[in-house]
Amino acid sequence: MIDNPIIHPFLASKDEHILTNILKAERIYVYDSDGKQYIDAMGGLWNMILGYQNEEVITSIYEQMRMVPFINMWCSTNETTIRLANRLLSAAGGNFNKVMFTCSGSESIELAIKLIRKYHYDKGNRQKKYIAVFDSSYHGGYYGSLTATGLERGHFEPLGPMLQGFIYLPVPFTRKDRHSLLEHLLFLEHFFEENGHRLGGIIVEPVLGSAGVIPIPEQYFQRMQVLCLKHDVILALDEVSTGLYRTGPLFNYQSYRGLEPDLLCLSKGLSGGYLPLGTVLLSKKISVVIEHEAFAHLSTQNGNPACCMAALKVLDILERGNYETVVKEKSIYFRSKLKILEQQFPIITDIRIHGLMIAIEIKKQSETLRFEEVWEMMLVLKHKGLLVYPFSSKYSAGLMIMPPYIIEYQEVDHIIDILVQF
Ligand code: PLP
Repeated sequence: MIDNPIIHPFLASKDEHILTNILKAERIYVYDSDGKQYIDAMGGLWNMILGYQNEEVITSIYEQMRMVPFINMWCSTNETTIRLANRLLSAAGGNFNKVMFTCSGSESIELAIKLIRKYHYDKGNRQKKYIAVFDSSYHGGYYGSLTATGLERGHFEPLGPMLQGFIYLPVPFTRKDRHSLLEHLLFLEHFFEENGHRLGGIIVEPVLGSAGVIPIPEQYFQRMQVLCLKHDVILALDEVSTGLYRTGPLFNYQSYRGLEPDLLCLSKGLSGGYLPLGTVLLSKKISVVIEHEAFAHLSTQNGNPACCMAALKVLDILERGNYETVVKEKSIYFRSKLKILEQQFPIITDIRIHGLMIAIEIKKQSETLRFEEVWEMMLVLKHKGLLVYPFSSKYSAGLMIMPPYIIEYQEVDHIIDILVQF
């Protein structure tokens, strides 16, 4: 490989030897400079939901580039960008009525934090600046989204001071234990009673991804919504990884009865992973308060029409292909195959599957693995031609599979074969 002067994210220089120089990518496969093929069961970084080399997406980007490759959102607009905004609003339904575009998931969270604070400021509730998040959530890498991130806080010390005003809640990871769910509900109730006066918003991944595919129980979410309404707390959902049919429905929150978030943050699969794009959908409750004055959020490429065109095409393909059903069916197949794996390997202590968001939890002598241990497992599998995502949080550790939705059944079998031979 040529000399590489790049500092890679979350990678110390001593670990740079693990980098793969990818020369070609097609469907669910990537190929390195030696021609070695890997199954990309991480789907890029969970974003390549339609796989690589989707001709329709690439052509739509090219055609948009030839028409209008950029607009300055500060003082212009464009039909493609507006079309995407309307499409997202009608897909989300509920109370959403406005859209803002970003370039990443981190930026969407950054924007959500600002919107929460501005909403209360404009309403004259200036004390409501605090924001609650879960203690093992991942929300991104910018200052606001990194502060909101509960995972790996050890990495943040050299970067401080971080943003002020964040409170970290325990994840209601109950493994169907009614008793502990009740404890979490009581804790939540008490937390809102004590902090409601200063709490502006709560940012939630409906299924915590990097913490190990941990869903928020429905009852907990419903209670949270009631408490948010009672204390005028903004409920912001981070669906950066769960959105766009990843767990079955278009947005994960649509699988919870009666859940009506105030803000919805998206990115990753929105453009099929082909171009940087994120968005925040705003409910009417927020937009009517904040839209009267200029709002300080701009990044040059926000709302880029080529990125938006990619998203429009991705939505076309997903709707036309009935991907809600496709993801559910493939999820069932994965579950049946992984059950066999679970029976064969006692170190697998849980398998959590939500659509095509899959965690294989691994323990050694009933101890949760350290990150270095799951990292080593990931490297062994990579050597065998399978790319998976190592996760480790205080709740769980193991390997994650987030394949492109176009994966075929025999390719699922191939993944299982590689895992069985571990
Ligand atoms: N939120 C969630 C739930 C994520 O999984 C991620 C990325 O993994 C982010 C936010 C940050 O998104 P990005 O990496 O596009 O900035």
